[in-house]
Amino acid sequence: MLNTPDEHEHQEIRDAIRSLCTQFPDEYFRKIDEQRAYPEAFVDVLMGAGWLSAMIPEEYGGSGLGLTAASVIMEEINRSGGNSGAVHGQMYNMSTLLRNGSKAQKDKYLPAIAAGKLRIQSMAVTEPTTGTDTTKIKTSAVKKDGRYLVNGQKVWISRVQHSDLMILLARTTPLSEVKKKSEGMSIFIVDLHAAIGNGLTVRPIPNLVNHETNELFFDNLEIPEENLIGEEGKGFKYILDGLNAERTLIAAECIGDGYWFIERATKYANERIVFDRPIGKNQGVQFPIADAFIEIEAANLMRFKACELFDAQQPCGAQANMAKYLAAKASWEAANVCMQTHGGFGFANEYDIERKFRETRLYQVAPISTNLIFSYVAEHLLGLPRSF
Ligand SMILES: Cc1cc2nc3c(=O)[nH]c(=O)nc-3n(C[C@H](O)[C@H](O)[C@H](O)COP(=O)(O)OP(=O)(O)OC[C@H]3O[C@@H](n4cnc5c(N)ncnc54)[C@H](O)[C@@H]3O)c2cc1C
Repeated sequence: MLNTPDEHEHQEIRDAIRSLCTQFPDEYFRKIDEQRAYPEAFVDVLMGAGWLSAMIPEEYGGSGLGLTAASVIMEEINRSGGNSGAVHGQMYNMSTLLRNGSKAQKDKYLPAIAAGKLRIQSMAVTEPTTGTDTTKIKTSAVKKDGRYLVNGQKVWISRVQHSDLMILLARTTPLSEVKKKSEGMSIFIVDLHAAIGNGLTVRPIPNLVNHETNELFFDNLEIPEENLIGEEGKGFKYILDGLNAERTLIAAECIGDGYWFIERATKYANERIVFDRPIGKNQGVQFPIADAFIEIEAANLMRFKACELFDAQQPCGAQANMAKYLAAKASWEAANVCMQTHGGFGFANEYDIERKFRETRLYQVAPISTNLIFSYVAEHLLGLPRSF
């Protein structure tokens, strides 16, 4: 395995996840990808061992660890050849509930989530007609007789078919009636089993990667009042906190992907003989690998900075965004280098490079696209005029 400077961070967790992942070799994930299936056996083992409850406090049956530890778990899954995209929702959605939920909600859900009996893998924010312009979402939740009636549409909502609960962002006050456009939105816990077929319709979207994701249609879906998380109208603020966790975890997954690509590229460059010498002896082959490795190392520093701030309950929006940008860029560069180093063999499914290549490409677009990170940095860090 590659010797990396941050190897010592949470070494016990790294060793445990690596050991768990040896039960799920490349062939397992390759087959799941070919079949467009869900890695159920892998998720069962991961959940059964309590790894997805890492951030749940011990009083609720979790391990009480922070985002740093959680990010190491995600990183190691991707570094071992798997894809944390199948499970990462459990980590960041749980953190939204943990930070903003009432005592009654935490008592009701967290022990079951910690025990691996409940999955909270989905978060529904994106809408087809508003895209990244989140404050313009049209899905509404209107309070009536002790419940909310939800109408509208969402798109690209992941893991709905492998989740029991979903966090939903909806407008509770029309945009025209709020002082600030970020006000008047609320978040809810949706019991998916009760909702599907009773006001919620789910339509899967076939896509580039094996990432189960869907269109959602809400037609007078009833949500009990007690499923509102925090205060009505403050949902955007709560969701941002969860998004910072999500961006940081995804940065860690990209770091894991990056190391995977570098390891594969290095191994192949040492073994493949062309013109009577290993291809890695050529500077034209080895320098791009070294370049990609340096980029991953730099991104990793920002990832740990974002984790540290989040765990200290300090503002971390800038670092979470920058970590996600740097790590997604670095993993994509490493993916390209790995593909190029393998020549034609990089295209063969049995090398798994084309699968990981597709998987890591997603993170330039989701959960936030690169341009939107640039505009965040330009406006919030550099004081440039808002561009939209
Ligand atoms: C596989 C997958 C899974 C997903 N899972 C989820 C999920 O579970 N839950 C969820 O809520 N969402 C999910 N998403 C949605 C994802 O977060 C969005 O696709 C992403 O935020 C981009 O939004 P959009 O697709 O609407 O692009 P748009 O907002 O339509 O933007 C299109 C392009 O234009 C650029 N652009 C737009 N406005 C500007 C501007 N002002 N300046 C410069 N550039 C601009 C964007 O950067 C982007 O490149 C998922 C998406 C995918 C592909």
